[in-house]
Amino acid sequence: MPIRSRIRTVPHYPKQGIMFRDITTLLKDPVGFRITVHELANRYTAMKIDKVAGIESRGFILGAPLAYLLGVGFIPVRKKGKLPAETIGQDYELEYGTDRIELHTDAVSKGERILLVDDLIATGGTAEAALKLITKMGGEVVECCFAIDLPDLGGRKRLEKHGQKVFALCEFEGD
Ligand code: AMP
Repeated sequence: MPIRSRIRTVPHYPKQGIMFRDITTLLKDPVGFRITVHELANRYTAMKIDKVAGIESRGFILGAPLAYLLGVGFIPVRKKGKLPAETIGQDYELEYGTDRIELHTDAVSKGERILLVDDLIATGGTAEAALKLITKMGGEVVECCFAIDLPDLGGRKRLEKHGQKVFALCEFEGD
């Protein structure tokens, strides 16, 4: 398990009871970083991806080199207020309150095949919001991919309910 074993678990971060799956230990390892990005690139190279969309901020770290290897463009899905030009946004629920992610209105063209990338899927709320945004703009999300899935939190099932394909390089039990 060359990827999973390089991910550090930090208990009770950012708050009591959360097991934070920290990919900085994977990224700082040249073999770990390389095999992570290459495994994803190998999976998607024949899938005719037009663009990779990475979710702020750890989705940028994996998504950008993946787009580079696939020879396609990269689009950042950002937290509210960060993108300078005209945007469209999507609110999503957090444990307490809501948050919002945004895309530039010219980020996705109708019919484009988009690969959505983040470091981790937990409840799936963030990825679901990104999926809604891309779909609203006429893009087709070919697959949602993650380094880590926390299956007990149900994110994969939540995305699959939208008819979405989900892929993760490894899983961790619990939350
Ligand atoms: P969710 O919307 O619940 O699927 O949460 C996914 C987002 O929150 C991702 O961008 C992750 O980086 C972050 N996240 C949620 N839970 C964890 C966790 N246990 N460890 C590390 N990151 C997490």
